[in-house]
Amino acid sequence: MKIVVKIGTSTLAYSSGRLNIRHTEELCKIISDLKNSGIEVIMVSSGSIGMGTGKLSLKERPSDMPTKQAAAAVGQCELMYTYDKLFSEYRHTVAQILVTAEDIQHPQRHKNFSNTLNRLLELGVIPIINENDTIATEEIGVGDNDTLAAVIATSAKADLLVLLSDIDGLYTANPNTDKNAKLITEVRELDDKIMALGGKSSSKLGTGGMKTKLSAAKICTDAGCDMIIANGADPSVLYKIADGKQAGTRFYAKRNG
Ligand code: GLU
Repeated sequence: MKIVVKIGTSTLAYSSGRLNIRHTEELCKIISDLKNSGIEVIMVSSGSIGMGTGKLSLKERPSDMPTKQAAAAVGQCELMYTYDKLFSEYRHTVAQILVTAEDIQHPQRHKNFSNTLNRLLELGVIPIINENDTIATEEIGVGDNDTLAAVIATSAKADLLVLLSDIDGLYTANPNTDKNAKLITEVRELDDKIMALGGKSSSKLGTGGMKTKLSAAKICTDAGCDMIIANGADPSVLYKIADGKQAGTRFYAKRNG
C-alpha cells in the first residue's frame, strides 16, 4: 500500500509559528511505524512560511512577497531539520523535494521528479515534498499544498491521500459557527451540494481551507485514488486509517465499470 500524507501548518505549528512538539513528534513516530509495517509513505508538508514566521519572531504571517519568501527559506530549513532529527530516532531517512507548478506541468521535469520519487521509495526513504515557496509566487505557484498533494498522489499512483488538518473532516455546515453541523463520514460523489460546502481558509498560518480540500478530492477521486480528511491533532488517526477503520471524511475514488 502506498499513501501520501499531507500535513498542514496548523498541525505542525502553533498559531505563533512555533513548533507543536507534541503533534510533530507523535506524527513522525507513527509514520515511522507505518513504514516499518511495510506501507510506502510520501509526505507533503506545509509549514515553511509558518515556521519561518515563528523562527524570525514575526508578529504574524507576512503578507508581502519578499518577506513571505524569506520566511519560507528560513522555515523550510527548520522544518527539514526537525523531520530529519525526529525520523532519525526511528532509523528512517528523509529527503526534501521542492517543486513549483512548472515542474509539475512540464512533461520532462515531471518525469525527472517521478523518477527521483520512485528511486527514493525503492531506497526506503521518506520523501517530504513542499512547494518551492522561495521561487513560486502567487501568479505562478500551485498555491496550496492540498492541490499539490492531490497531484502528487495521482502521479505517484498512490492508493490513498490523507490530508491532516485542524478539523475532523467535512461537515454539513461550519462547526465553529453552527452547533448542528454534522461530520460527513463518506462521500461517494462530489456533486454541487458537496462542493458548495467548501468555505474560506480560517487558519492564520496556512493557506488551505475546505475549498482547496474539496478540489483536491476532485483531482484524486477522478484519477482513481481515495482521499481522507482527518484531524492531525491526534496523529494516531493514521493507525485507524491504515487498519481500514472509519476516520474523518473519506472520499471514494470513481471506479470504472
Ligand atoms: N507551501 C506553504 C508552506 O509551506 C504552505 C501552503 C499551504 O498551506 O497549503 O508554508
